[in-house]
Amino acid sequence: MKKPFVTLEQLKEITKTYPTPFHIYDEKGIRENARKLKQAFAWNKGFKEYFAVKATPNPFILNILKEEGCGLDCASLTELLLAEACGFTGEDIMFSSNVTPAEEYQKARKLDAIINLDDYTHIDFLERVAGIPETICCRYNPGGIFKTANGIMDNPGDAKYGFTKDQIIEGFKRLMGKGARYFGIHAFLASNTATNDYYPELAGILFRLAAEIKDKTGAEFKFINLSGGVGIPYRPEDDPNDILAIGEGVRRAYEDILTPAGMGDVAIYTELGRYMLAPYGHLVATALHEKHIYKEYIGLDASAVNLMRPAMYGAYHHITVMGKEDAPCDHKYDITGSLCENNDKFAIDRMLPRIDIGDLIVIHDTGAHGFSMGYNYNGKLKSAELLLREDGSVQLIRRAETPADYFATFDFTGIFDKVL
Ligand SMILES: *Cc1c(COP(=O)(O)O)cnc(C)c1O
Repeated sequence: MKKPFVTLEQLKEITKTYPTPFHIYDEKGIRENARKLKQAFAWNKGFKEYFAVKATPNPFILNILKEEGCGLDCASLTELLLAEACGFTGEDIMFSSNVTPAEEYQKARKLDAIINLDDYTHIDFLERVAGIPETICCRYNPGGIFKTANGIMDNPGDAKYGFTKDQIIEGFKRLMGKGARYFGIHAFLASNTATNDYYPELAGILFRLAAEIKDKTGAEFKFINLSGGVGIPYRPEDDPNDILAIGEGVRRAYEDILTPAGMGDVAIYTELGRYMLAPYGHLVATALHEKHIYKEYIGLDASAVNLMRPAMYGAYHHITVMGKEDAPCDHKYDITGSLCENNDKFAIDRMLPRIDIGDLIVIHDTGAHGFSMGYNYNGKLKSAELLLREDGSVQLIRRAETPADYFATFDFTGIFDKVL
């Protein structure tokens, strides 16, 4: 059973000040989880997690992770600005972008961020627009199908990212010729993985590649970046990943491959997003309407604007009807938002307790790729974000949008002054 990190009593109190819908994050859970990740990789002296900003781009959350020793993984100008505003600079920023505009490379260079090149052609582009830094990383795409002992994980051959193997070896030579001195490699081969084998298998591929590149080019490796992709148990029956077992698996690959290659001082980096935040966020909504036609519907005051994953990927998000945790799940509902889009459903044919109008609904695991994926379809506004502090108090960490925010890009016209 999945249990919310807030109680009905807490939510009743919170909604007196902050109306639903809102996202709420659990500071205690975030910190404990970040410490466990650090512990899992404590065997590696240079280990660092670069939190994938796109998962939860809120400065208050980023500051918590900063206090836990994390850096940031950015992929756009605004994400770099967010990092800068939060006081991240230099090697605490990984810039893992693709299809990168010149101004973004220039900003990354100004911040002295570590640049992770997505493509061979970006070597000359970066040199032209911002210069080649001393430390640089290249993203690898092995192509084909990525298989592990437990089956197929994903299809890198169809992914737009990264260098081929020949390109990465040639790329290292070119970069060395242009003055780069310290190197990293990176790959992201599967998303939301539900096995402890993903990182160790990926590490094996990257460690062997690094040893080969070093052998062929003499490049000095500073780090290997395992990127994101460690999953979380969205369904109550899913087995959670064991981060300590994952760290141990990577350590074995390191000792089997890197240490004998004379690369026992290479740092391991990660760029986890989902694993760091998803379980520590809830979308809280209120049941607004019920509807009885060919199916039974419950309409919420939240919509895909607040959480797009179900509409976009058919993703499962667990739902708790607050105060009815022990009631039998004897009603079959579609739980919907209000968008004029029939995919605006948080759940389809979900067995839940009987829902009454006004019930508070917790949608689980929205802490990563939740609020941040949101959009403004139908002119629906983005919600507030709240932080449940370790001391039990609640802090507003982003206010809800207002119509003035939605119309802000017409501020040069003045035509909305009359209605606002
Ligand atoms: C999205 C992304 C991540 C984070 O992925 P998760 O699945 O949230 O762990 C890390 N690195 C890069 C380059 C990404 O695009």
